[in-house]
Amino acid sequence: MAVEDREPEDPKPGFVTLKVNYSGICGSELSAFVGQNELRKPPSIMGHEFTGKVVKVGSDSDRYLLGKNVAVNPLVTCGKCRYCRTGNRQLCPERKLIGVDYPGGFEEYVNVPDYSCYEIVEKPEGSLAEPLATAFRAVFHAMPEIDDRALIIGAGTIGLLSTKLLETYGTVDRVVVDINDFRLEHALHWGATKVINNKKEKGIPKDFDVVIDAVGTQDTRMMAINSVARGGRIVFVGLHEPQAAVPINYMIRSEIETYGSFCYSDDNFRRSVDLINRGFLDINERWYDIRPLEKGEDSFNEELSPESRYSKIILKP
Ligand SMILES: [Zn+2]
Ligand SMILES: [Zn+2]
Repeated sequence: MAVEDREPEDPKPGFVTLKVNYSGICGSELSAFVGQNELRKPPSIMGHEFTGKVVKVGSDSDRYLLGKNVAVNPLVTCGKCRYCRTGNRQLCPERKLIGVDYPGGFEEYVNVPDYSCYEIVEKPEGSLAEPLATAFRAVFHAMPEIDDRALIIGAGTIGLLSTKLLETYGTVDRVVVDINDFRLEHALHWGATKVINNKKEKGIPKDFDVVIDAVGTQDTRMMAINSVARGGRIVFVGLHEPQAAVPINYMIRSEIETYGSFCYSDDNFRRSVDLINRGFLDINERWYDIRPLEKGEDSFNEELSPESRYSKIILKP
């Protein structure tokens, strides 16, 4: 990982140039950093959770965006297929991602399509629009009802934000499992009713109406299946390992409903931006930390450690 000086390019028609304000480090980027990600290969400028100020536009029709602080929906899609036309751009066969296929937010200036910009508050929380939208979709698939009991596996950003949303939906129990005590401590500020360090404690409670796996390993996928009630719902959103062996006959006989949840629809993203603008994420606890961009490599290494203190590190160019 290196910091380079580069001249910003002028935006093409339909694109705008942002001066990046805040850019969060995502778990998927940590796996890329250690070379365990199928989609992310170096060299690249990562960063897909960011906000910035529009400083240049490629088309006159985008002049209204100049000077606005915006969050970026990093999905770049064809705009023509059946998925794009129903607002489900995350399913577009031509789907590309800013920060993976295009240069991302870990730089001072970045060009993004005009349609990806959503006006947002100038707070660090703005850079959480993308992970909140991901959590929003996971919880949407979980279809929580008032009085449901929920298990959330993983106290990273998606797990924490899902917990907060599940609280809003009126669930009564929200048990969060992780192996990092710092992150579990954060979870208590995000609506967890109980936290479990599954490295230290054995035996996860059972019979949850809803389980969200925000990790995605063989172990956490099995934990989800073993903890959900018969007829309950599991949402798989974590992508840590590409495959897992699951007891499908047991799942069939138990009528366990499972959902894959990936990124967000346009509607999920829009609602997440609106929630942030309304202060939904303003909690008085330092669960994230802000660092200068030059501290990028250190911050990646820190986030990889099981002892890492913060659920999120946000870089500021
Ligand atoms: Zn991400
Ligand atoms: Zn498409």
